[in-house]
Amino acid sequence: MSVIDTVKEILEASTQNPNRGDSVSESKGAYWCHDCQERILDVDVEGEDAPDCPACDDEMTFERSAGSTGCAC
Ligand SMILES: [Zn+2]
Repeated sequence: MSVIDTVKEILEASTQNPNRGDSVSESKGAYWCHDCQERILDVDVEGEDAPDCPACDDEMTFERSAGSTGCAC
């Protein structure tokens, strides 16, 4: 077996099994209304704007879920 065949096999194996984990939209946090304890996940909200609380109609505040990196202090 030649080296080239081995390299080919490795390349084919890697293209057949693309290991991309970024296709799933992942929640980065959630919108909260602290008065009502209402919570809506960001992935459930269409667009970039904060939704209104379904209970009191106030604008909800966005909070990143713990563990999702990036301290913006
Ligand atoms: Zn509310």
